[in-house]
Amino acid sequence: MLIIGPPGSGKGTQAERISARLGVVAISTGDIFRANVKGETALGLEARKYMDNGDFVPDSVTNKMVRERLQQQDALEGFLLDGYPRTTAQVQELDDILAAEDRKLDVVLQLTADDAELVKRLLGRAKDDGRSDDNETVIRHRLDLYHEQTEAVVGKYADRGILTQVDGIGAMDVVTDRVLRAIEKARAAY
Ligand code: AMP
Repeated sequence: MLIIGPPGSGKGTQAERISARLGVVAISTGDIFRANVKGETALGLEARKYMDNGDFVPDSVTNKMVRERLQQQDALEGFLLDGYPRTTAQVQELDDILAAEDRKLDVVLQLTADDAELVKRLLGRAKDDGRSDDNETVIRHRLDLYHEQTEAVVGKYADRGILTQVDGIGAMDVVTDRVLRAIEKARAAY
């Protein structure tokens, strides 16, 4: 499964809840990058240059990281990928990774929310946990990138007939219920 959504849509939170409920490992590229930044690894030092400005980390770094992560034991039976793919080039890469192992995606879940709500939430989050990429200029840039690049990713999965959209506006628990129901429905149809 994939979970896709604009910054601030709550995809990280919902991914963790789906993971707990369905017993599938949640893999967040943003979390992996942040852990590497914190640990001051070579990967983290490289990623940080881009993350602080809200830019995408280059594919040469990101694709290799995802490829290796998906081959780890806990992801072999299934996974929920959060934050990847974000570009159509990454869709192609993921297709290649999965095809090489005879695996395929079952469900792509998109969380939707309008920009005004997202900016409000992200500015709130900036106060609470001080993420270095949660200031207004960077937030707007991340949203622009989502519209410019990641919406085309959503379109590709819609064309393949595996896209499920869920309204991400509302209380977290309400959204979780919607998400779980949508997954159930998508799996039943599958
Ligand atoms: P997120 O936690 O998903 O909002 O990701 C935080 C940051 O990590 C993004 O703004 C990017 O700088 C970087 N990042 C995460 N996933 C990707 C990806 N698939 N491709 C490129 N950069 C990424």
